[in-house]
Amino acid sequence: MLLGVQLIKAPFFIMPHSHSHSLSGISTKQAGRPTVAFAHLGCEKNRVDTEHMIGLLEDAGYGVSPNEEDAAVVVVNTCSFIQDAREESVRTLVELADKGKELIIAGCLAQHFQEELLTSLPEAKAIVGTGDYQHIVEVLEKVEAGERVNKVSQTPEFVGDENLPRHRTSGASVAYLKVAEGCDYRCAFCIIPKLRGNQRSRSIESIVKEAYQLAKQGVKELILISQITTNYGLDLYGRPCLEDLLRALGDVEIPWIRVHYAYPTGLTKEVLAAFREVPNVLPYLDLPLQHSHPDILKAMNRPWQANLNSSLLDRIRELLPEAILRTTLIVGFPGETESHFEHLASFVESQRFDHVGVFTFSPEEGTLAASLSNQVSSELAISRKDRLMSLQQPIAAAKNSSWVGRTVDVLIEKQNPQSGELIGRCARFAPEVDGEVFLRTSDIQTKVSPGSMVSGLITGSDLYDLSGEVVGAKKMISAIRTRD
Ligand code: SF4
Repeated sequence: MLLGVQLIKAPFFIMPHSHSHSLSGISTKQAGRPTVAFAHLGCEKNRVDTEHMIGLLEDAGYGVSPNEEDAAVVVVNTCSFIQDAREESVRTLVELADKGKELIIAGCLAQHFQEELLTSLPEAKAIVGTGDYQHIVEVLEKVEAGERVNKVSQTPEFVGDENLPRHRTSGASVAYLKVAEGCDYRCAFCIIPKLRGNQRSRSIESIVKEAYQLAKQGVKELILISQITTNYGLDLYGRPCLEDLLRALGDVEIPWIRVHYAYPTGLTKEVLAAFREVPNVLPYLDLPLQHSHPDILKAMNRPWQANLNSSLLDRIRELLPEAILRTTLIVGFPGETESHFEHLASFVESQRFDHVGVFTFSPEEGTLAASLSNQVSSELAISRKDRLMSLQQPIAAAKNSSWVGRTVDVLIEKQNPQSGELIGRCARFAPEVDGEVFLRTSDIQTKVSPGSMVSGLITGSDLYDLSGEVVGAKKMISAIRTRD
């Protein structure tokens, strides 16, 4: 057992390396220093930290490779958000250890288990906390000198900025920009504040500078990320400043700016006005509402959201009628009765979100919710998840089909070399979590490079994706914005 995860050395249990996120954008750089390999798991916030570590190592003269065969030392940037994520991280570590690799364990698992990782895994040569990745070069140098290193700040306080070297791995056209790190809320189910610390925002100037750097690199879609982006700036300026940030980013020549994680309390009239008025800010709102029933929201330690859901959504629809709405929900939270669940089901039915993600509750040691006595069985939680998803499916299909007949901008991500078909996304779809757009070209010989934007007439839809044909060259502003 390692960290409560059963380690069975059989192919079924060993995570295929492809389950960790692709870092194919890394180029091996030969220099006086050896090559280090990277494996990356977890969310896009973790991805940004990985990109900074790669940038720092490359600047220090190390070669960096996504392939562990190239290196004796592998930096594994881990996730510890829920049990499944921990298992995936641990399996990656064990697989690499079995191959005789020395490991530097960074990220949430290192922050979570700290010294325990060093004592239970001899191949672990260093642990690096979520607020310590900026020291990766110094850590690696010590490991090379034969030391075992514990570089984990008890309270993570660091947040990277535009001056920290960064090697992007999300392709040429999409970039994630971390506007803040950490979270000041204490939702009963969530371990993130423990792993990432309290919120610390970057200044507007720093974020805008980085956005200009990314625009220069040809980025077409900038995704602002943090735990609660609607709370951006509160710690730094004494008030939430998302509106000011969006307006400042309006001058940067990046056609799409997408905001990830808008919380109910932060969607003020002013913030919605910025979404409406700044031409490159997409009217796409990802609202992790988690539940609709006031009792459950209270038990989740999110009472500020109770009774606000419907009025909030009404306000969004009034002030930003073209908004694409995504939400994530948790079923099977301790104490969730059939009637609480029915409340959630009718909420989903009546609100008609474009995209819904449903998670079953996962009791995380160290959180309040894990110690609650009235836990819901996992079978019941899974069946509630299935019921909610089957309710949402016809809604999602209908929402998607309402796009048939429209002409939209599509950011091309790849092209099928045989058929010439283009695959990309319109503003309605965020990368990784939503669908794709498949476009036929009039001439299969036409080559379109990834990162191009084309106009596509939508002629077909299914549950998740849209299809159609290319009708023209790019328009740089989202086709969602019909009023412009
Ligand atoms: S669920 Fe979100 S808001 Fe709540 S503590 Fe976790 S990160 Fe913060």
